[in-house]
Amino acid sequence: MLRQSPEYNRILFEFLPVGLALCQMDGALVDVNPAFAAILGRTVEETLTLTYWEITPGKYAEKERTQLESLEATGRYGPYEKEYLHRDGHFVPVRLQGRIIEWEGERLIWSSVEDITARKRLEDDLKERNEQFRLFVEHSPAAIAMLDRDMRYVIASRRWVADYQLGGREIVGKSHYDLFPEIPERWKEIHRRCLAGAVERAEEDPFVREDGRTDWVRWEIRPWYDRTGDIGGIIIFSEDITPRKEAEEAVRCERDFSAALIDSLPGVLYLYDRNLTFLRWNRRFEEVLGYTADEIARMSPLDFFAGDRELIREKIEEVFASGESSVEADFVAKDGSRTPYYFTGLRTELDGRTCLLGVGIDITARKRAEEELKKYREHLEEVVKERTGELRDGRLALLNLVEDLGAKTEELAVANERLKEVDRLKSLFIASMSHELRTPLNSIIGFSSILLNEWVGPLNDEQRLNLSTVLKSGRHLLALINDVIDVSKIEAGQIDVAVDDFDLYDLCTEAVGLLTDEARTKGLVFILEPIHHPMRTDRRRLLQCLLNLISNAVKYTETGTVSVSASLEESPALVLLTVADTGIGISPADRMKIFTPFIRLDSPLKGKVPGTGLGLYLTRRIAETVLGGSISFTSLPREGSTFTLAVPARCEGKVMQP
Ligand code: ADP
Repeated sequence: MLRQSPEYNRILFEFLPVGLALCQMDGALVDVNPAFAAILGRTVEETLTLTYWEITPGKYAEKERTQLESLEATGRYGPYEKEYLHRDGHFVPVRLQGRIIEWEGERLIWSSVEDITARKRLEDDLKERNEQFRLFVEHSPAAIAMLDRDMRYVIASRRWVADYQLGGREIVGKSHYDLFPEIPERWKEIHRRCLAGAVERAEEDPFVREDGRTDWVRWEIRPWYDRTGDIGGIIIFSEDITPRKEAEEAVRCERDFSAALIDSLPGVLYLYDRNLTFLRWNRRFEEVLGYTADEIARMSPLDFFAGDRELIREKIEEVFASGESSVEADFVAKDGSRTPYYFTGLRTELDGRTCLLGVGIDITARKRAEEELKKYREHLEEVVKERTGELRDGRLALLNLVEDLGAKTEELAVANERLKEVDRLKSLFIASMSHELRTPLNSIIGFSSILLNEWVGPLNDEQRLNLSTVLKSGRHLLALINDVIDVSKIEAGQIDVAVDDFDLYDLCTEAVGLLTDEARTKGLVFILEPIHHPMRTDRRRLLQCLLNLISNAVKYTETGTVSVSASLEESPALVLLTVADTGIGISPADRMKIFTPFIRLDSPLKGKVPGTGLGLYLTRRIAETVLGGSISFTSLPREGSTFTLAVPARCEGKVMQP
């Protein structure tokens, strides 16, 4: 058999493209074929001068030892990969395996060696290509994910990881649907179609996330194919357009807001360019004028005015020239109706065009108010004119009145003077007549007393009664005349003050003594509480005042007591003489009347008790003008009255003016 012939083996050894080597256990090479020598870049002869260790880089020493141990134990080694040292110094990757053989009683290592440089290079190329692909995908600025048929991640770009918040998680091998449970069925359907070969895309698609917010995405999905040409999975390109959508939304909101704002303005708002072409206006503008948007777009601002057109043209020019202006003019609607408006214009730039932004407000109400105001003003002027006339007349009338009053005052002054003179003459008459009046009265009183005392002969009862009446009437008349004279003297300012030194105590006892009989006759009880106090005043007049008060108390009291007391007041220093009774009293309505001359109050006693109505009047006048004091009283009807005379203890002879 050929295969068994040494020649055949030799040829095989020589021409086999695989390196074959036979070495001793210590590493000395016994035989190598040309393929082995070629791996080292040497000839066979050259190679046979080397040992195994000389062709093995030092870094494999450890690995070699392991292989040798395996060889010793099992009789075989490899296959394993290592490198040989090439003649020119570079390393040659090789794959080798071997076994121990026995030849002529010696143990030798038989190795087959394969140069794997080309495979290694291919592998490295592939590794590099893979790395490039990984880098390309991972660093792509787009969000890209590559998924297998089971929707498991093969690779994803960093952008994808960032956009879908997958950072910090190992996603390769994970299911897309596990990572995003919220993926809708609609999308799963698309994935299925793409896994079947379809290519699909969407410009914007809402992705409602698990937490409720909506991400907006633009995506494209296409299948990828494995080396067999089958679909290996899908590639998803996606772009998170949420910020753009939000920005668009914000712009849309802003635009809607301004549109709503402009439309809700109470006035009209418009924008036109230098060619007087309308660019924008609010709804109110259309409503006020009654034109449609199409009509307005074809019209000039001047078309909305009638008589004021020239003025409007000037104002528009002014806005474009100086920046702003305003004007009042009638706005003419499509139906010809006119409404007064106030317009303000402002020059503004829009998209590089100079425009006029105008606002107009209806001033009908203001105009009407102005009209009314004008009417009122005119009416007011008339009224003022009228009133001024009336005032002038009134002033004249007043002047006349003042003049009349002046005349009357003069007349009054003259009349007053005349009256004073008459009064003086009356007082003079009374004063001078008093003597003439008193003299015959004194005779009447004196002689009737003599007759009554029966000094000139006995009287019968009737004569005694008549004479008593004469005496009583005479005395009453004398008292009346004395009072009248006193009044006249006081009013004529002719009363003299005669100052005496005396004791208050004596004065009080004297006054009470003079009226004791009268009181006793009526069954009244006198209570006297006088004090000692030196007095220097008109004793006769003070006694007259006190007698008047006590006499009244006795007259107007039917039962009970009459108390007379004296006391001192420190500040101001006054002597107080008080006469209190338990009589009929004085009603509040009569309080002011009792000091009026000739006034006697109505009472059941009025007819019974004598009186002139001059007593209190005189008492007060004397107290005030002669004694420099005052009189006051308190009283309750049916309970009694208390009169108090307050006079200074020292009067120093002053004569008071009436
Ligand atoms: P007449 O001479 O009438 O007493 P007066 O001037 O002394 O005159 O008093 C005026 C009036 O005051 C009296 O008529 C009487 O009505 C009233 N009057 C005076 N004193 C008293 C008194 N003590 N109690 C009640 N009424 C009095």
